[in-house]
Amino acid sequence: MVLNRFEELRTYLSSPRNIVVIGHKNPDGDALGSTLGLKHYLDKKGHTTQVLMPNEYPDFLHWLPGSETVYRFDRQNNQSVKSLNRSEIVFLLDFNALHRVGSDMQNTLEAYPNDFALIDHHQQPDDFSYMYSDTSMSSTCEMVYNFITMMGDEDLLDENIATCLYTGIMTDTGSFRFRSTTSKTHRIIANLIDAGAKNDRIHSNVFDANSYNRLLLLGQALSNLQILPEYNTAFITLSQEEKRKFNYEKGDTEGVVNYALSLKGIVFAVIFIEDEEQGIIKISFRSKGSFSVNQFARKYFNGGGHDNAAGGRSEESLEDTIKAFKALLPTYENELKNSYNA
Ligand code: 5GP
Ligand code: MN
Repeated sequence: MVLNRFEELRTYLSSPRNIVVIGHKNPDGDALGSTLGLKHYLDKKGHTTQVLMPNEYPDFLHWLPGSETVYRFDRQNNQSVKSLNRSEIVFLLDFNALHRVGSDMQNTLEAYPNDFALIDHHQQPDDFSYMYSDTSMSSTCEMVYNFITMMGDEDLLDENIATCLYTGIMTDTGSFRFRSTTSKTHRIIANLIDAGAKNDRIHSNVFDANSYNRLLLLGQALSNLQILPEYNTAFITLSQEEKRKFNYEKGDTEGVVNYALSLKGIVFAVIFIEDEEQGIIKISFRSKGSFSVNQFARKYFNGGGHDNAAGGRSEESLEDTIKAFKALLPTYENELKNSYNA
């Protein structure tokens, strides 16, 4: 855990500031929950806070309180740049390096003259003026909760803050089932419910928001599933054509990789998704046990993340990417065999 210059930050935040809060590209529940949770808290303390996201976020997160105030850097570029120019400090949430916001926004942030404050649980973060980094944390939302507590402001928790933080903890822990879920995570969740988070409604807003097409796309993904039992590995592919056929919308493939991981005996699951717009294959990696998909994604697919959940990309065709992926597996045969028991 790294906590750098926290007391200075606390003093700095003891008078009203103009603040921008940013999440990573293709924001997920934790990115949106943590940025909005922090925004509601900072606003309540008397600051002026604007949340910026690099691009679109999934439909199933649009109900989050405050999401209508978010500026998208790709669509609302003028407003985004203006709010950055007005701001005195920028909080970076749920990502570890500026390139994770995409190259356009990265260029703008690199020219930012004031301080950055990082709150994040990803491995190997870059250096920023103020740092709260802890890779053992289930989610950035759990860290925002801790941040509010460290600020001595637990009594400011309210329904909006609690709803946002609950959502991110829930999505980043696979509904409280991953190894990163601790007794402390559950205690925080209990406090968030006490502060007004309506847990049944949050689960239903996020997980019962499927369109018929999304279910059909899932059906397609499952019929493309391939199992490599000798490597305890399963993978799924989705081509651009298949996505088109079922009217793919952002977020529709979220969580699909977990079906591959749900197979008995599988410790390594991957989904390869063709992305025509970016001209890449977007890859999500998941594992159980000691096999580190963070290292695997970093080493071979220009990505990273956490030990058991990471992402990456390939510039090759879908077919060539899968060929290259399969060729890597023999090297890891033993590690994969022992992953679950390790
Ligand atoms: P997902 O597979 O859900 O997109 O991402 C899983 C985890 O890996 C998330 O924590 C996400 O932030 C991280 N991740 C996803 N894609 C990338 C990437 O291209 N580079 C890095 N460094 N991390 C990624
Ligand atoms: Mn996260």
